[in-house]
Formats: sequence, structure tokens, C-alpha cells
Amino acid sequence: MENAATQIELVVEKIARAAAIAGRKADEITLVAVSKTHPAEEIVPLLAAGQRVFGENRVQEAAAKWPALREEFPDASLHLVGQLQSNKAEDAVSLFDCIHSLDRPSLVSALAKAMNKTGRRVPCFVQVDIGEEIQKGGCAIPALPALVAQAQEAGIPLAGLMCVPPAGIEPSPFFALLDKLAGDLGLPGRSMGMSSDFETAIMLGATHIRVGTALFGTRG
Ligand SMILES: *Cc1c(COP(=O)(O)O)cnc(C)c1O
Repeated sequence: MENAATQIELVVEKIARAAAIAGRKADEITLVAVSKTHPAEEIVPLLAAGQRVFGENRVQEAAAKWPALREEFPDASLHLVGQLQSNKAEDAVSLFDCIHSLDRPSLVSALAKAMNKTGRRVPCFVQVDIGEEIQKGGCAIPALPALVAQAQEAGIPLAGLMCVPPAGIEPSPFFALLDKLAGDLGLPGRSMGMSSDFETAIMLGATHIRVGTALFGTRG
């Protein structure tokens, strides 16, 4: 149970080291602790250790786990890092403080409607299909400017761009590309880097790293 709390010290140290090498400040980088599949008992030690930003990839799982945790830790912030179905947009807007998977026009419409209805303006990252892997979701690079414009016109606050590079190959070129695309679009955030590559992502401009396994161990 103390595992994640011990691991977080190591991860925070690595973040600081990578930021220093890149000439960046460690506090420019938000560690999103991805707690998907892990029960509340494993999350509490991290909250107790001071971690406040968490990621989940399913609306239903988050809705089951987080209301009780938030009663105890009201300043915890919850990010959606998984694909979102349009029919769950309202639940997602009510539950999450940030959404990393805005990737298509129909979801822009659904999220805008949900934000208008609930009165909550939830910052969103536009997920980019950086490795041309349709199954992972994400907006194709040529369609990105139009999607960003549509989201901005609909009043959705855009935090930046997000990507999940293809597995098993060197991620650096994909991180560099996401950084360039975000710069071209004038968006501040870059959500990139997971347990195996977050230091590389930090050196290439990540503002939000999404780390699960390195904190919680492997998922069952
Ligand atoms: C699960 C997940 C992560 C965390 O992955 P780890 O390799 O366990 O750090 C990050 N981003 C997304 C989108 C995920 O689904």
C-alpha cells in the first residue's frame, strides 16, 4: 500500500532532473497520476503524500471511485485520459477537471452542449493521431486546425495537444512533432510522456505527463 507513495518520490526526482537538463522549471510540469484499474485503497497513500492530480480512462470507473475520495480530499483534480463517447460527455464534464481526449467534431458538439448545460468550462486537450494509428483515437494531423477552430468557436477552453506515440519505437520524433504542432496552433499545453518515456517527453516540452505503472506497478 505504501508502494505508490514511495514510488512518487522517485518519479518527482526524475521529473526534476529531466527539467533541469532541459533548462526548464519542474513546476511547469504537471504529473498526472494515472490510477485506472487501481482501487481507492491504492490511491489514498498518494493523496496522503500530497499528490493532487489523477487520471482515469473510463467515466464509469471514475464515477464509482472518485466521489468518495474527493470528500476526503476536495482539492484533488481528476483528468480523463481515455477515449470518450459522445453520449458520456455530460457525465465527463460533471466529473472531470480536464479532458485529454477531444478528437473529433461530434465530440466538440457534445462537450460544448454539456458545458453549456452544466455551466462547467472544462479545459480540453485535443488528442492527435500522431502515429497514424486510427484504433487509438486522435485527430488526424491535417484535420487538426479545423478541429481546434471548431472547439474555440464553441467556447471550449483548449489546454493544448495530447498524444500517445506508437508502442515499441523511439517516441522522441513524435513528441517533437506534437510540440511543433502545438506551437503552430498557439496552444500552451503538451500532454505527452508515460511511465517509460516521461523524461524524454519533458526534455521535448511536455507540460503534462501521464504516469501509471511507474507509480502503481503493473495493472492486473
Ligand atoms: C494508461 C495510460 C497512461 C499511463 O500509462 P503507464 O504506461 O502505465 O504510465 C497514460 N496515458 C493514457 C492515455 C493511458 O491510457
